[in-house]
Amino acid sequence: MLKVGIIGAGIQGVCNALFLQKKGYQVILFDRDEPGNAASYGNAGHFSPYASVPLNRPDIVSDVPSMLMSSRGPLALKWNYVPKMIPWFSKFLLNCTNHKMMHTAKNMHQILDQSLLAYDELFEEIDLEGLVENNGILYVWNEKNLKK
Ligand SMILES: Cc1cc2nc3c(=O)[nH]c(=O)nc-3n(C[C@H](O)[C@H](O)[C@H](O)COP(=O)(O)OP(=O)(O)OC[C@H]3O[C@@H](n4cnc5c(N)ncnc54)[C@H](O)[C@@H]3O)c2cc1C
Repeated sequence: MLKVGIIGAGIQGVCNALFLQKKGYQVILFDRDEPGNAASYGNAGHFSPYASVPLNRPDIVSDVPSMLMSSRGPLALKWNYVPKMIPWFSKFLLNCTNHKMMHTAKNMHQILDQSLLAYDELFEEIDLEGLVENNGILYVWNEKNLKK
């Protein structure tokens, strides 16, 4: 039997492991910390097949300063963390071009388009009672001048 090692036991690693197991592979998940305690623990809990446009967008670069300065803005920063985040933030900025955004969106769309069906396949095997609600999503803007 073929063996597969997966590094990272968040939602991505666990789902890949499950699907590979279903295909008959022997899978080992590796994680340097407790499984499921990173991004997969602290998120909004939406199943979001529509979210193909990445956060790295050209317009975000000019929006960041005002987001940080506003007390009601969506961004907050621990200023003593800034030196540590420079390498990550530099890469983030380099990926905020229109070309990179469109590249990511196109490929994300192809993956996300399959995601609800894939979740359904997993959900059929467990008792979901009270865990998942299928309510759709509604976006509301209070400005007419929407960004393209
Ligand atoms: C505030 C917030 C809200 C969000 N809301 C949503 C939402 O509503 N809907 C949605 O679909 N997505 C949402 N997301 C995104 C979603 O949470 C992530 O895309 C998803 O959890 C990523 O899963 P992952 O398995 O790739 O990463 P993670 O859950 O971060 O797992 C990665 C794992 O890899 C391990 N690891 C990393 N490096 C190594 C190494 N070198 N060796 C061993 N182990 C390693 C880590 O310890 C970790 O356990 C949100 C994210 C945030 C931050």
